[in-house]
Amino acid sequence: MKYFVAGSDPNDVRRVPSMSWLLEHESTGQKVIFDLGIRKDIERYTPAVFERLHNVIKSEVPEDVFASLTQKHIDPSSDIRAIIFSHLHYDHVGDPSKFGPKTEFIIGPGAKQLLHGPDSYPCNAFSHFDSRLLPQDRTVELPPATDRSFWAPLGPFPDVHDFFGDQSMYIIDAPGHCPGHVNLLVRSDANQWMLLAGDTTHDTRILDGVGVTAVYLDEKTGRSKCAHHDKELAEIHLQRVQEMRKLENVQVILAHDNAIYNSLYDRFGSGLQTQYSIAHDMSFL
Ligand SMILES: [Zn+2]
Repeated sequence: MKYFVAGSDPNDVRRVPSMSWLLEHESTGQKVIFDLGIRKDIERYTPAVFERLHNVIKSEVPEDVFASLTQKHIDPSSDIRAIIFSHLHYDHVGDPSKFGPKTEFIIGPGAKQLLHGPDSYPCNAFSHFDSRLLPQDRTVELPPATDRSFWAPLGPFPDVHDFFGDQSMYIIDAPGHCPGHVNLLVRSDANQWMLLAGDTTHDTRILDGVGVTAVYLDEKTGRSKCAHHDKELAEIHLQRVQEMRKLENVQVILAHDNAIYNSLYDRFGSGLQTQYSIAHDMSFL
């Protein structure tokens, strides 16, 4: 936790989920998945990620996205309209290769550069971002926030996009954590919403306003760093999420929230995917 919440005990190590969400659009039956969690065959990540998962973070993937889909009789090769990634860190991208030609991959503004810029693998042998991760012809990068034909304000958020065009699911531009970070606001009932907040923050104490993001010295570069690419932007977005959370009919769910995961497990039972990583040094998450 010392890399996430300022003042944490250096020995405070926690086991957290990497959640993946299957979302079904009620009126059309279209299925979308938000994030793919951690892949089972971790040796197929880039060498740098594999090494990290081997030596620094222990991951357990007893049931991956595909096992969960099979349980629900959903065929990944034909039944999923889109995968929306909150961002492209390895604990969110899973294994996109098993989805068929009908599935498109949606990434946030600026995320493409991570996959295809000079710092991606294999150009950069030490990169966490694999240029081979997504099929380019089925990958859609959302336009920048300056494109007002795509983005519009909603509540505290200046940039959201109504995905199905019927106000049932909004993609929220959520800058700060990582280039292309987005959240989803999903209507789960007539007047009930879930805000899937990805890595807006990694710990509910920060969401609750009783903890702050840890800042520490990166031994490799000698510079200070934190869990976010741009701390200031991340904090502005966090404040907006906190505003939404004040509403009684909005449940905010962080990708790595263990307490919510456990309560959802009680609600959905064994069909709920069980993916964990042990937070040992998750400065990249
Ligand atoms: Zn993460």
